Amino acid sequence: MSDIIRLLPDAVASQIAAGEVIQRPASALKEMLENAVDAGARQVQVIVRDAGKTLVQVVDDGCGMTENDARMSFERHATSKIRKAEDLFLIRTMGFRGEALASIAAIAQVELRTRRTEDETGILIRIDGSDVKSQEVVSCPPGTSVSVKNLFFNIPARRNFLKSNAAETRHIVEEFHRVAIAHPGLAVSLRHDGNEVYRLLAGNLRQRITGIFGKPYNERLVPLEESSMSVKISGFIAKPQFARKTRGEQYFFVNGRYVRDPYLNHAVCGGMDELLATGTYPSYFINIEADPAHLDVNIHPSKTEVKFDDERLVYSVMKATVKRALGRFSVTPTLDFENERAFEVPLEKAGQTPKPPAIRVDRNYNPFTADKQEGGGRAPAGWEQMFPERGQAANAGVETPGRLSFESSEQAFIAGMAAEHFGTMGHRYLVVRKPGEIMIASRFSVTERIYYSELLRHAGSNSVSQQELFPQAVGFNAADFTLLKEIEADVQRLGFDIREFGNNTFVVHGIPSGMESSDTRRVLEEVLEEYKHHATTFKSAKKEAIARVIARNRARQSRDPLSPAEVKELVNTLFGSDKPYYAVDGTQLFIRITEEELNERFQALRSQE
Ligand code: ADP
Ligand code: MG
Repeated sequence: MSDIIRLLPDAVASQIAAGEVIQRPASALKEMLENAVDAGARQVQVIVRDAGKTLVQVVDDGCGMTENDARMSFERHATSKIRKAEDLFLIRTMGFRGEALASIAAIAQVELRTRRTEDETGILIRIDGSDVKSQEVVSCPPGTSVSVKNLFFNIPARRNFLKSNAAETRHIVEEFHRVAIAHPGLAVSLRHDGNEVYRLLAGNLRQRITGIFGKPYNERLVPLEESSMSVKISGFIAKPQFARKTRGEQYFFVNGRYVRDPYLNHAVCGGMDELLATGTYPSYFINIEADPAHLDVNIHPSKTEVKFDDERLVYSVMKATVKRALGRFSVTPTLDFENERAFEVPLEKAGQTPKPPAIRVDRNYNPFTADKQEGGGRAPAGWEQMFPERGQAANAGVETPGRLSFESSEQAFIAGMAAEHFGTMGHRYLVVRKPGEIMIASRFSVTERIYYSELLRHAGSNSVSQQELFPQAVGFNAADFTLLKEIEADVQRLGFDIREFGNNTFVVHGIPSGMESSDTRRVLEEVLEEYKHHATTFKSAKKEAIARVIARNRARQSRDPLSPAEVKELVNTLFGSDKPYYAVDGTQLFIRITEEELNERFQALRSQE
């Protein structure tokens, strides 16, 4: 009987091991980015071709390597980061297993260029599937550049297993986001097939988040800050009303390392309790610092899991931190109007009696006949019941400078109401239940008004536009193409980054924020339709007309059911816009039904009996 067990050849063993660490181009990117961070880089460039299938390159300005280290770096379990088993528990660096470069080199064609600042020259090493093909002295800037070409070129089965370019690009971008968010102090850029997808300057975490996800995030973020004995928590959560329908922007970093942690995710959601509409996922960007001695990061080769010694404690600290942060930034709805600071217009100081704000109460006020000028200075009907003391004061004729206008007082009042006073009727109507009055508006008109005002307010700034990952070419007939060229400047100002491409075609690099890219052609065609049919009004108010088309299209997309908190947020945003009482077409947005009106109607019924 002959023996049948054989040791695998080295190359095969490396390929198998490599599969553990490198599943796709994005995994190579992750390892290379972590190496750049560990090397103390301040600037990192990522260059990707063909969704990473032909090239993933990371260029850093970190410490670089000596010639020997450059060669060594491709050996399995070669690392400069730990020396003995105990070091595993003191890990502060990103990498530590010493297998990334070896793995990548086993399954790709790699070019490493590296130079330490103190050295005159650098070194260039080329490796194909673990074979060193060449090594030469070169002149290159200090730092390191690693190019990984044709991943899995020598394992066709794995190469075929890669997903579509869109899917692989998504993985790459996600990996890029993780490192970019974990290290806001690092300047990072990403180019894909020659297009600059991101160029993020070094900054703080808030700037990094808005740099990646867009300016609107600035107002959504609630800071978290907590130091307990065992962990330090910092970062941001997005207000619960901005929770998303898909699990997306959820980032935990433990000592700078991105981790997935369903248990801690549960803690964050728990801290938001009722505020979170069912079926939505909160966005968060949370850093956890913990003593490495109380962590085990060596659970999985792809290193996205950690284990805390005392998980339960971290869980409860996390939950309490989220709860407190939301409470402190009064995101939590409150029924208690008395304590609502927003209404305490004059600040009470010791030894000084607060003066009531001067508000004229017009008992005959009728919102349907109210004059449309701004700052009408009128309070809504029934107002004095809402603020009994102030109502009396106002009735007593007290007048002090700085009176509240009708709009701002109603806005402040609505902003202070608990979410439970907001709701919907069917899909189409929003309902606000105020004391003594119900306000009803069409959801579509409200949303359209909000988007419209927003667009015009920010026209020309880059916050109105979102860059498309994959620019799309949109062709027109010759006539429409010429028309579009005529209004190109205004179309640009409202968020379409379109560039003429010859052949009656525009390439769309960016679309108005919030618009679906699948709608691009339709919306552009609608803009043209509007232009053709209203050429005269268009001349006077081109921008407004285009904004209307965009706003209308965006508003059409809002069809998901709304939670009371979401209705409240919508109404609040509406009142923050320039003309909260009028739809884009100039008609009244709200139908109001007052208690008096109801009394009268019921009385009329009774008198008919
Ligand atoms: P690990 O990061 O786990 O140590 P790697 O295989 O990723 O293992 O890298 C091996 C070694 O190569 C690192 O320990 C480091 O010394 C060196 N190295 C890799 N990338 C860089 C880089 N961008 N700049 C400087 N040194 C690097
Ligand atoms: Mg590494």
